[in-house]
Amino acid sequence: MDLPALPMSGALSESFAEAFGRAPEGVWHAPGRVNLIGEHTDYNDGLVLPFALPRGVSVAAARRDDGVVEVRSLQAGTAVTASVDGGTVASENWPADREWAAYPVGVARVLREHGTGGASLLIDSDLPQGAGLSSSAALECATALALCDLHGVEIGRPALARLAQRAENEQVGMPCGLMDQSASLLCTPGRALMLDCRSGLSTQVPFDPAASGMVLLVVDTRASHALTGGDYGRRRAECEEAASLLGVDALRDVKDLGAALAALRDPVLRRRVQHVVTENHRVEAAVGLLRAGALPELGAMLNASHLSLRDQFEVSWPEADATVDAAVRAGARGGRMVGGGFGGSAIVLAPAARARQVRDSITAAYARRGWTPPEFLEAPPSQGAHRVA
Ligand code: ADP
Ligand code: MG
Repeated sequence: MDLPALPMSGALSESFAEAFGRAPEGVWHAPGRVNLIGEHTDYNDGLVLPFALPRGVSVAAARRDDGVVEVRSLQAGTAVTASVDGGTVASENWPADREWAAYPVGVARVLREHGTGGASLLIDSDLPQGAGLSSSAALECATALALCDLHGVEIGRPALARLAQRAENEQVGMPCGLMDQSASLLCTPGRALMLDCRSGLSTQVPFDPAASGMVLLVVDTRASHALTGGDYGRRRAECEEAASLLGVDALRDVKDLGAALAALRDPVLRRRVQHVVTENHRVEAAVGLLRAGALPELGAMLNASHLSLRDQFEVSWPEADATVDAAVRAGARGGRMVGGGFGGSAIVLAPAARARQVRDSITAAYARRGWTPPEFLEAPPSQGAHRVA
């Protein structure tokens, strides 16, 4: 089914013509995502449940047959021209003002092995960068779709997600899991995507807050995250250490939580295991509730996830705690921090009729503490990556 072009795509095509002196051959869009539940489970081979946001990255593009990718972004100052058959971008040590281009150029270099070639690409986005909403995967996936279509290469979406992940791992040097790219490419409106991070298999789960008289709010807490910082790596290392002490491949394999906790002497490792094991169960419980048509009950799962991330995994931050607290006080069914932690966004599930009070309550809580005001995005589960023009 052909979708009507987003209003943005006309303006983007014009900007493309100005920048490159010819019309683009098409415009592609890939959304950001939010993970409903299942945090810090991905690298423990566990379960996650993301859905696509109504915001993302658009790419206007035209094919080039000289093996060159030429990329510009309306959100970045520098234009970058690179060969698709170079080595890895990371090893070329680009200066800071060109680093952003490692994402699209990296995708072009990885996809080249599958038959794509060069292109001129103009990027535009309505997704905040570094807010934990996965602008990086949206950029990769929009670029990947554009390159495949322009060069007539057909790659199934699960495989394309793996290739985009590989681009981020190898070309950008960010050891991310498969969730962001899978969500951006595979999500559908009115559904969340349960992804098993061990097998890579995913299933669609009904998730339509509006149909239950609810809204899902994404709250940018305005405290910026630094995922490459040491804390994230330390959590991963703790999980690996606990798994090895327990004699399992990954914490996903812990079947008897009581026995596992009794076997670990280090209280820090016990807390980490407690979070990961119970969080996987919460994903399964959330999926059960959604399949049963009990969407508002998901709020309790979100609250439990938040407390576990705050107290057991110890990755929450003051703005996220205040967001969940203020939201629930104002009548939300629940909420939690999302992403790796130490900054970024939170989500809140609230009855539509209470949405205004919930927002006001959160804003007032920030104002009382003298924090930068939060930003809200109402986020109906939206369509995955697609061609818009
Ligand atoms: P997140 O994916 O949560 O937004 P990341 O740190 O993984 O955060 O990715 C953000 C990076 O992706 C930015 O620093 C930039 O390099 C790149 N990026 C994302 N969107 C754009 C854009 N519209 N233009 C240029 N670069 C972008
Ligand atoms: Mg990212």
